[in-house]
Amino acid sequence: MPGVRPADYNIDMYDAIRGTYTFACPSRGDTSVTLSAFRELERLPGAAHPAVYQIRFECPCGEVHPSLVSHDDLDWAPLGLVGGVFYNVMTSTLDSLADELSDLAARRIQAGDWPWSFFCYPEEQPRPVFPSAFFLLAPGDGSLGLAVRCPSCSRTSVNLVSHSHVDVPFHHDATVGVLEHVFPEDAAATIEEFRAELDSSSFDVRRLGLQ
Ligand SMILES: [Zn+2]
Ligand SMILES: [Zn+2]
Repeated sequence: MPGVRPADYNIDMYDAIRGTYTFACPSRGDTSVTLSAFRELERLPGAAHPAVYQIRFECPCGEVHPSLVSHDDLDWAPLGLVGGVFYNVMTSTLDSLADELSDLAARRIQAGDWPWSFFCYPEEQPRPVFPSAFFLLAPGDGSLGLAVRCPSCSRTSVNLVSHSHVDVPFHHDATVGVLEHVFPEDAAATIEEFRAELDSSSFDVRRLGLQ
């Protein structure tokens, strides 16, 4: 596909200090966006180590472009962690702040403080999550509609969250909007219903505290 980068280089796709991903834009060259600028994520079949996600992101140029992101860049790079463990290769491209960030992130996760969370509607409870479980994002009135495939029950929930809830690890909205809708298993039907339901007013407010 034109404009899509190969996914096997990776150290500098994510800037842990600025919290942005760098992708190719056909009109601007390189462009930097936060995770909340992603619109669709889909795990590609086949490539397992690391898994690769086909994403579409909303570019500052106004268009939506495709790109590829590795699982590590999605879930671990925002924490200054790569491969799920403390990883010192980052020191070659980032300054010592990134090391301190990753050390802190590792300790917080070990203490049960998860970097991302959402409210699972079928299970009626908050759940820890990583960005690779996000698969649709839609900006609305200052907030973001976020479709999550629950790592625990595998079903889909849609939350209304702040941009920071997605972009800033360990930032959790105190309450989120929860769409009271059970989605079908079928991915294409889910996407259609997601768009339709986002415009509805059937959101309920739930507390998100995991502790
Ligand atoms: Zn662009
Ligand atoms: Zn669930």
